[in-house]
Amino acid sequence: MKKNGSPNMLVTHEHALLIHEALEGSCKTTDAVLEQLELDVEAYQDDDVIFKMLDLNLECCSGCGWWMESCELVPDEQEEGDDDALVGLCLQCRKEKVDHDWK
Ligand SMILES: [Zn+2]
Repeated sequence: MKKNGSPNMLVTHEHALLIHEALEGSCKTTDAVLEQLELDVEAYQDDDVIFKMLDLNLECCSGCGWWMESCELVPDEQEEGDDDALVGLCLQCRKEKVDHDWK
């Protein structure tokens, strides 16, 4: 772990809440939101922001790119299809994937 002089700033909790609010229910990129909020885009790493959002129970659907609660990106037990392939996708994308892969 570097102490000082690292160009990577950790995302503060205050900023994380602002980013969370801006991302939720949107399909914006983290970069776009950082710019929109006029937070230092260079200082915050994409991965750090995503990790911080995960902390706040917000994740990006890897299919359509919409941000939503983590629990919405996990298939229900009743849903058909390969669970592993469906994790990280929203309900809509899971349906599309199952339709595409299985029919
Ligand atoms: Zn989706």
